[in-house]
Amino acid sequence: MALEPVTHLKGVGKETAAILNELGIYNIQDLLMYFPYRYEDFRLKDLVETPHNEQITIEARVESHPAVFFMGRNKSRLQVSARSGRHIVKVVFFNQHYLKNRLLPGTFITVTGKWDRGRQTVTASNVKFGPKEQNQDFEPVYRLKGNLHQNRFRKFMRQALDQSKGQLVDNLPKDLRERYRLLPIDDALEGIHFPKDANHMKQARRRFVYEELLMFQLRIQALRKARREHEKGIAIQYDLKKLREFISRIPFELTNAQKRVVNEICRDLKSPFRMNRLLQGDVGSGKTIVAAIALYACVTAGYQGALMAPTEILAEQHFASLEDFFEPMGVNIALLTGSTKTKERRQILEQLEKGEIQVIIGTHALIQPDVMFHRLGFVITDEQHRFGVEQRRILREKGMHPDVLFMTATPIPRTLAITAFGEMDVSIIDEMPSGRKQVETHWLKKEQLHACLAKMEMELKKGRQAYVICPLIEESEKIDVQNAVEVYEQLKSIFHGRYEVGLMHGRLHPDEKDRVMRAFKDGKIHVLVSTTVVEVGVNVPNASFMMIYDADRFGLAQLHQLRGRVGRGNYQSYCVLLANPKSDEGIERMKSMTEITDGFRLAERDLELRGPGDFFGKRQSGLPDFKLADLVHDYRVLEAARNDAAKLVNTEQFWKDDEYKGLRKMLEKSGVLSGERMD
Ligand code: ADP
Ligand code: MG
Repeated sequence: MALEPVTHLKGVGKETAAILNELGIYNIQDLLMYFPYRYEDFRLKDLVETPHNEQITIEARVESHPAVFFMGRNKSRLQVSARSGRHIVKVVFFNQHYLKNRLLPGTFITVTGKWDRGRQTVTASNVKFGPKEQNQDFEPVYRLKGNLHQNRFRKFMRQALDQSKGQLVDNLPKDLRERYRLLPIDDALEGIHFPKDANHMKQARRRFVYEELLMFQLRIQALRKARREHEKGIAIQYDLKKLREFISRIPFELTNAQKRVVNEICRDLKSPFRMNRLLQGDVGSGKTIVAAIALYACVTAGYQGALMAPTEILAEQHFASLEDFFEPMGVNIALLTGSTKTKERRQILEQLEKGEIQVIIGTHALIQPDVMFHRLGFVITDEQHRFGVEQRRILREKGMHPDVLFMTATPIPRTLAITAFGEMDVSIIDEMPSGRKQVETHWLKKEQLHACLAKMEMELKKGRQAYVICPLIEESEKIDVQNAVEVYEQLKSIFHGRYEVGLMHGRLHPDEKDRVMRAFKDGKIHVLVSTTVVEVGVNVPNASFMMIYDADRFGLAQLHQLRGRVGRGNYQSYCVLLANPKSDEGIERMKSMTEITDGFRLAERDLELRGPGDFFGKRQSGLPDFKLADLVHDYRVLEAARNDAAKLVNTEQFWKDDEYKGLRKMLEKSGVLSGERMD
């Protein structure tokens, strides 16, 4: 029945069928699952309470004879006055002068239109004669094509619903429906297309959102399960006693969040499945020590660990801090980058292959063909989005089936994280070590540049350093942005003879970039003018001031990353946003930055302001298109669906019982059960 072609519907011929096909509708079931994207709201509203310019529906009695004005050939304006309750309003119709004979005094109408409070006028978009009918609060509006109009489409839908009633198989098993009090399929379809009232619509939507998210999570969980079963992993039996000792030597107490993620990671290490985990933590939340603990655990089990960073500077930074932890424990740790000298490199490779080096930190240099490991068990990649899938694969394959942990300082709201990185487990450090000074953030207009520079100079006088961030390196014709080179020249002349100014941007030769960064680290450069290349992980604790030109051109996540470059030492730090935003959203972003310091809260804000599509940028969104679900508002449902799916795929009933046949069929349709791969 549900699979009958649409041509079986009355009124659907070849031509209409072709249009329906274009919409992806081939059979009755496709049609039923083609949901409205909005509804006309015909609920009666109160004239006094409805705001200016909003849509309103009222019942009214015509009081005056209609007045018709013609304006040019086909244009007309018809006006009557009408009484609605105790109010007299004007009702205006454009280009419908033919209504003249029906809108006579005493006629009862239900009229919908835009409400002009000041003029007490409804500009009608819809009129029905007589009082409002029951169960007509909402009318579905569909995305259609060609000359297929809403009314005709609604009639097809009505027909399809009536014919299929009582014959559809519900994909959602009864126990899930009952647990969440979800409408059964017939009622839900009725409610999504022709809701009786607002609640009916809401309940129908709730059911389909859950179904959609459950299917989405089932796909992910089924893939995960298949992968776990087919891919060998290693159970890293670490030495708990030694690990405890290592942790007790750390000069500070781990935060609760750090303890939690250490446990999550250690559980994965020990399990026979391959770890595929994403570790998220805001800048400064203490990911490095978590990485150190995990690497050490791996070493106590007799395996080698590797940590790969996207730049030499970051690799060196990691090496410097891990060395401090590992040296006293007698762990042999090495650094391998592009600038490691040939002789030293040869030596490192030898020791690595023999297993004498237990932990190696490096850049892409770690994935050269001649780098061999003795017994690689665990790989951490820092700032995972900078590495391609391919590079990660090469490194993984150097070991047997090493556990893999991806670390990122880009806070991604949990809903997005478990959606976009669905096949990974996600650990989040959502707590800062106590006693951190927050970066004081101010928003100034560009005209206030001098005030900003004065503040900067005060910091420089104290011996601190400063970043000046410019959006783009070269002036493009259209966009009015500051030119980094120009800013650099300006500041150089302002600070001439007093402070050293350096320039950093993406077009510099890598050696030159390194030279500049090092000079800044060593305090030889006081003011670093830079594009966003300083964004990731650079640690210069003496830098206490950052000024960001045209800050409104950045997204919140990126601004937060940039701001994370200061406030890394013991000094009170400052971030000044220099911007004259033109849009409300831009103003909102500047305000959010001055008010919110927590990266995850900012990320949630960003998601609200820009929506999930823009959050990652089009480039690598990895987000599916949902029909109804909205990741911002439906996150609770997403969490529930995720838990349910994870449980379901591990039960026997799910794979056998008739109850779950509908869900299994949909999984099959999506290709998951036929051996599709994700990585
Ligand atoms: P991330 O890599 O997450 O940006 P780091 O690991 O570099 O952060 O840690 C930032 C600083 O905080 C380091 O100096 C580190 O020693 C310190 N730190 C980490 N965890 C704690 C903690 N629980 N208590 C106090 N200081 C901590
Ligand atoms: Mg770090």
